[in-house]
Amino acid sequence: MAKTAIITGGSRGIGEAMSKMLGKLGYNVVINYRSDSSKALSDTIADSLKKEYGVETEVVRADVSRYEDCEALVKATIDRFGENIDVLVNNAGITNNCNWIDIKREDYENVINTNLMSFLHMTHLVLPHMINHSSKEADKQCCIVNTSSVGGLTGVINQADYCASKSGIIGLTRALALEFAGRGVRVNAIAPGMIMTDMLRGVNQDELNALAGTIPQGFIGDVADISGALEFILTAPYLTGQVISPNGGFVLQ
Ligand code: NAP
Repeated sequence: MAKTAIITGGSRGIGEAMSKMLGKLGYNVVINYRSDSSKALSDTIADSLKKEYGVETEVVRADVSRYEDCEALVKATIDRFGENIDVLVNNAGITNNCNWIDIKREDYENVINTNLMSFLHMTHLVLPHMINHSSKEADKQCCIVNTSSVGGLTGVINQADYCASKSGIIGLTRALALEFAGRGVRVNAIAPGMIMTDMLRGVNQDELNALAGTIPQGFIGDVADISGALEFILTAPYLTGQVISPNGGFVLQ
């Protein structure tokens, strides 16, 4: 029987690549998005997963910074695919890029609520549906994969709220990995370096060249570098509590 995966922020960029990887690995996929403009993008991903891999999909709009929306997302998953949830990819994220003097309270609260509180809400709601059916056999265990960032491993100027959220995700990952290691759930994080998505598309070519110059490998990464890390984590039965960071050598752990 096909397994069920939920991905938050699965409509664009890294999330789109990871939604497609989940389908390729044979999961039925619940693709979450938030903005009106992303409904069509999510539907297109869902159609392509059905055609290419024969998996079932559900597209669910929810603002995962809100607990009630996370509850509705989990309920929609259970209504469609049943009580057993096998994989949760917490990926939704935003950034502000503002100095700490001028930043507004609502803007940094929005970053923390979207990037960190949503991960707490979703893991809190999904874990009971994992430990119920998870296996003692390592290769059949449930998985949570959290998208952090190199910003969670090191500081970035004008990104204090973002870095706080992303290092918080690493703490959450490690603590949950230990708490649930004996109950059949593996919890890992991916900390991408600079990856070409809408998050970077606003940056002009000169700035992009300057950014690439700060990366030891000399170039900005692709979304496939991150979906590849997701594939590795999902197929690595002895891996838990780890942070995998495809980042071109930008940060060494
Ligand atoms: P992106 O292209 O801007 O996509 C962000 C995704 O998050 C979209 O699917 C968006 O949904 C969703 N989202 C945002 N707020 C949400 C909310 N409140 N509820 C539900 N969904 C929400 O960004 P990306 O570059 O792919 O980033 C994906 C993740 O990777 C983020 O956690 C980001 O911090 C992390 N990351 C990115 C980079 C990079 O260089 N790109 C580096 C390190 C870490 P809509 O489409 O509906 O807006």
